[in-house]
This record gives sequence, structure tokens and C-alpha cells, in this order.
Amino acid sequence: MTTVENTARNNPSLSVVIPLYNEEGSVGELYQRLKKVLDGLGKEYEILFVNDGSTDGTGGVLKGLFQRDGRVKVVELRTNFGKSPALSAGFDHAQGDVILSMDGDLQDCPEDIPLFLEKIDGGYDVVSGWRQQRDIPFFTRKLPSRVANWMIARVTGVDLHDFGNAYKAYRKEIIKDVKIYGDHHRFIPALAKSIGVNIAEIPVRNDPRRHGQSKYGLERIYKVFFDIITVKFLMSYSTRPMHILGPIGSFFGLVGIFLGMRLAYLKIMYGDKLGTKVSLSICVLCILLAVQIITSGLLAELLVRIYHESQGKPIYVIKRVLEHGPS
Ligand code: UDP
Ligand code: MG
Repeated sequence: MTTVENTARNNPSLSVVIPLYNEEGSVGELYQRLKKVLDGLGKEYEILFVNDGSTDGTGGVLKGLFQRDGRVKVVELRTNFGKSPALSAGFDHAQGDVILSMDGDLQDCPEDIPLFLEKIDGGYDVVSGWRQQRDIPFFTRKLPSRVANWMIARVTGVDLHDFGNAYKAYRKEIIKDVKIYGDHHRFIPALAKSIGVNIAEIPVRNDPRRHGQSKYGLERIYKVFFDIITVKFLMSYSTRPMHILGPIGSFFGLVGIFLGMRLAYLKIMYGDKLGTKVSLSICVLCILLAVQIITSGLLAELLVRIYHESQGKPIYVIKRVLEHGPS
């Protein structure tokens, strides 16, 4: 007869969230090593596995762990949604005061968890793991990752070396306030920064993959590029899109007007034939662009209002309120 070693508890202080897509070879050892580390902490914890539509034996292994251990929770997704949505699902079901996410392929070492918690105890709201040594191909993975990290740091103003790493710990309030879409898990620190938090970075080990295959290839490069544009927009202009689209539209408008005036001058003073002039096409193009960009800006302003109001999404986040009660 199998016995449940630990019964589920109500308020874990730590939730470990792990997305899994076809990781049957890793998940057993991962659980054993995690358990050893987490038992050593002397804290209430839960391990939350998110099965992201695995088609191998991952689901079966998870079921076995769930039956044996009351601290194991499993969130099963219907199909393969991708790592960011899987992480979101895990965060939504996590109950710990501190939420730690890590990969499930044994590349992130569970033995590093205490380092994250030390920083959180030291007052940081977000702690991000930095894989200083990575065993990945240079041209297809390491170089794009360096460029992406550099760009994200520049664009978001958050100084981390390794945004792409899911090995991160957060205070619960932070993660509940930041919604992640698309492949945006790498932007959580940046999005969190926009609501005002302390972020720390610590070096972590990154072991080579021993079982299964990496789920990512070159296509990640352009996705990350467009995500950077989106996140910059969300961080800086999501409540005031006209402040970015307005100036761009006006720029084209002014160029168009200037060219138009010049053409009119040439026509009136010198009787030039405008039909043959390239600048006429450019003038018309610029004015059309101006009208389109500015109307998009107005539409965006409308959308922003619908976005915030329909979801009850706050446009600010309060840390605390100090007030005197009625006397
Ligand atoms: N993963 C997932 N859904 C996916 C792709 C990946 O849950 O669609 C998980 C995967 O099982 C692993 C983690 O995300 O636990 C990181 O994936 P991977 O090791 O393939 O990424 P890499 O380390 O190569 O960046
Ligand atoms: Mg990996």
C-alpha cells in the first residue's frame, strides 16, 4: 500500500512551480533532489508541476508523485500551450508566500534554491538566476541570447544579465500583479519593475541536458525581438499610446506638408509639371501615413480604456495605505 508521506497543508510559505513538456526522463530525479533540498529548509512548501500537454510518460510519473506526496500538486493543461502559459497556470494555482519557478529538465539545480530564498529574506521582491556557464551552441543560442539580454536591459532599464532564465523567485504579490502573455515570462522582472520592486540577480549553475531535447530553436530570435517592442510599449505607453504614435504621425505629416508646399511653390513660380515628380508621391505617402498613424493612435487610446476598465486592471499598484481610523 502506498502511503501519503505528507498531507497537503493550507499555507505553504514556498511554492516551486515547474513547467514540463515531455520530461519523463528528468522528472523522477528532479523530484528526489527537490524534496531533499526543500525538506532541509524547515518550511512548509508545495511542488507544483504543470504538465504542458506532454505526450510521453510525464503525466504518469506525475500522477505517481501526486499519490505519494501530499506536497505535490499537478496542474494538467489540455494541450501544449508553451512555457509562458504553463508558468502562468502554475502561478495562478500557487499558494506560497514566495513563488519560485524553474525548468524541469534538470538544467536548473534544485540545490541552488536556498540562495534564492536568502535574497528574498534579505528584502528583495524578485530574485533572478544568472546562468554564467551555459553549454549551448554559440551561434544559434548563446549569441542571440546575449544580444537579446543586452537589448532588453537597454529598453526596459532593468539591469540583469539573463532574462531568459525561468529560474526565478518572487514574492507572491508581485507575480499576482503581473500578467504574462505570449513568450513574456522573460519580461516579468521588467514588468515588475514598472510597478516598483527590488530585483536581485544571483549566479546559478546550469547543467547540460541529459534527457530529452530542448524545445527551442532559432525561431525564438524573432519572437523575442517583437516581444521586446511590445513590452517597451506596455511599460512606457500602455496608458498613453498617443504619446508615441502622435509624434511619429506628426513627423510624417510635417514632411508631407513641407514637400507639398515646396511643390506648390515650384508649380506657381515656375509652372513645373508635378505629375512627373517623385516628391509628389512621397508627399502623398507621408500625409497618408500621418493620417493612418494618428488614427491608429486614437484607436489605441480607445483600446487602452477598454483594456483597463473591462478587466478591472489597475493603472497603478499600491504598496500600502497608511491612514488613521475614525476616532
Ligand atoms: N516547456 C514547457 N512547454 C513547452 C516547452 C518547454 O513546459 O512548450 C518546459 C520544458 O519541459 C522545460 C522548460 O520548459 O522544463 C525549458 O525548456 P527547454 O529545456 O526545452 O528550454 P531551454 O533550456 O533549451 O531554453
Ligand atoms: Mg533546458
